[in-house]
Amino acid sequence: MRTRFAPSPTGALHFGSVRTALFAWLAARHTHGQFILRIEDTDQERYIPGSEALIIETLRWLRLEWDEGPEVGGQFGPYQQSLRTDTYRAHAESLVASAHAYWCTCTPERLGAMREEQRARSQPTRYDRRCLRRQEEVAAERAAGMAAVVRLRMPDGRTEWEDVIRGALVFDNTEIDDQVLLKSDGFPTYHLAVVVDDHLMEITDVIRADEWIPSTPKHLAVYAGLGWRPPRFAHVPAVLSPDQHKLSKRRGARNVLEYGELGYLPEAIVNAMALLGWSSGTEQEVFTPAELCEVFTLERVHPAPAVFDPRRLDDLNGLHIRRMDADALVDALEFHLPGTSKDVRRALIPMLQERITTLVDAEHLAAPLFNRPEPDPNVPFPPRNVDLATARRMLDACIDAVEHGGLDGTEAVLSRLKAEAEAAGAKPRDAFRVLYVAVLGAPSGVPLDQAMVFLGKEESLTRLHAARTRLSVITG
Ligand code: GLU
Repeated sequence: MRTRFAPSPTGALHFGSVRTALFAWLAARHTHGQFILRIEDTDQERYIPGSEALIIETLRWLRLEWDEGPEVGGQFGPYQQSLRTDTYRAHAESLVASAHAYWCTCTPERLGAMREEQRARSQPTRYDRRCLRRQEEVAAERAAGMAAVVRLRMPDGRTEWEDVIRGALVFDNTEIDDQVLLKSDGFPTYHLAVVVDDHLMEITDVIRADEWIPSTPKHLAVYAGLGWRPPRFAHVPAVLSPDQHKLSKRRGARNVLEYGELGYLPEAIVNAMALLGWSSGTEQEVFTPAELCEVFTLERVHPAPAVFDPRRLDDLNGLHIRRMDADALVDALEFHLPGTSKDVRRALIPMLQERITTLVDAEHLAAPLFNRPEPDPNVPFPPRNVDLATARRMLDACIDAVEHGGLDGTEAVLSRLKAEAEAAGAKPRDAFRVLYVAVLGAPSGVPLDQAMVFLGKEESLTRLHAARTRLSVITG
């Protein structure tokens, strides 16, 4: 199997478009085939500089490696359509020669007026084939230097194909316009370039967004006109946002690379994307990319639109973090815990790995370990449900335990504090909040004993004493 991802460089990639790339990549990997990246940059008007680099960076970050394409090359290159315009022109001319396409010199003004009229008569707006009926005149006009386009002559009858995801699809050809294939500036439209490239690059399975379904009859007519066997088509359902709108650049869908900055792991994103419209047929939800390659098939992609649930991504991200080996997590946290050494991050792993949903959470959780927290007026102290006497008693006991027993055996410290809480008639859970606020500035956080070991005896005592002083000045 040879599949491709063929983005247009019109901006960054969002979840929906990368999900299409992922399905094409998985289908190829599942069959030990090839995955090709092709940049469809023939529409100069929609081109946004820098997007090609963003596309490449996004796919690389997600580790969706391509076997052929920009930067890696391949025997069917170049893989940027703007470098292949001669090929498209030659194929447009050959379609004209075999009468599957024709030259058209209608001006934009005439086409505009024609559409106006069609609209006024409540007819569908479609090219009226004026030039098809006057090909000799058109030839003379072209010879005299008039601008001309090549249009597909949409054949009569019906177009049918068996879509891998959607099943049998049928279109009445009378409903389909004679598509412009070659523009007057000599550049192809998408409809010509996509067919020529998919054929010449020996793509066996065209996997793309289902918004292209209405274009597929045009493409099949081009295949037929050129005498080529068409590939299989798999039209992937749209991805909807939680409010049921289609994810799109226009609606501000997030650039996938931003998820990295927000602390999501590429493997969690790949996992979440795979589950948008695909299911393994088992209970399993957490998949590594390698596991996905093993089980993924297009036949198990559901044709209905899939809703992207950010909470599911959060859950999967947390689960992938728990599964990571410590060294990988130490490396992944480098960006989110700037300025920390590997050793420091390694020491933090036991405190963080079970507790964070995203890598950014590590930054918040670890912050009080690096900077002594200032008393926060929004954090009640003593905490709710703990009276002043109990709070003082807990701090005194903790200071005493750390001062005399040190932090080598934190078990002993913890059990002494628990006994102290019980003796004071408080729930240990509540009473411990006093110590959390004292050491970490908040009533919860990483485990208290591990935090104190990380901070060391001296710093722990400094914080405990400062908190004790705060309580001494309270009367009551
Ligand atoms: N360049 C088209 C796009 O960005 C590709 C569609 C296709 O895969 O055929 O949507």
